[in-house]
Amino acid sequence: MSDCCAVKAEQRSAPSTVSCAACGSRSKRVAALTVKSLVRHLAFAAPRTQYYFCTAPGCDLVYFPLDPEAPIYRRSDLLVRVEAKEPEDSAPLCYCFGITRNAIDDEIRSTGRSTAAERITAEVKAGNCACEVKNPSGKCCLGSVTRAVQQSLQALRAAPANR
Ligand SMILES: [Zn+2]
Repeated sequence: MSDCCAVKAEQRSAPSTVSCAACGSRSKRVAALTVKSLVRHLAFAAPRTQYYFCTAPGCDLVYFPLDPEAPIYRRSDLLVRVEAKEPEDSAPLCYCFGITRNAIDDEIRSTGRSTAAERITAEVKAGNCACEVKNPSGKCCLGSVTRAVQQSLQALRAAPANR
């Protein structure tokens, strides 16, 4: 289809990061497939321009277009909660397998370690990963999971009597 080819041509020339239209944070490109999969009512209408993903916690804007005529998408337009914007414990870190910060904390509190990264790696190897259509960033969650595990281990070490 000519429309999707047009998007691809634009994507090649679109800058890799731009400032968020609302808060000015540096925002990375996000695939049209990710936007289409996670914005409500977009299932049959792929975006026609390059979109960017704002991760700033205080900002309500999630996806904004390079073409200012195209619609913007806020948190309430998405089918999932954006962990980067709501760093609460119950928001998912891994969207494919539903692993939350809470679950990581619980496992570390009871066993002293986390198997989350191993479990995710095994699922990725088995071909069960779908970050591009499930994670608002469109990227693999392993980086944020690893970071959350380190934070949780540090927190436990800092307050060992709290159990
Ligand atoms: Zn923003």
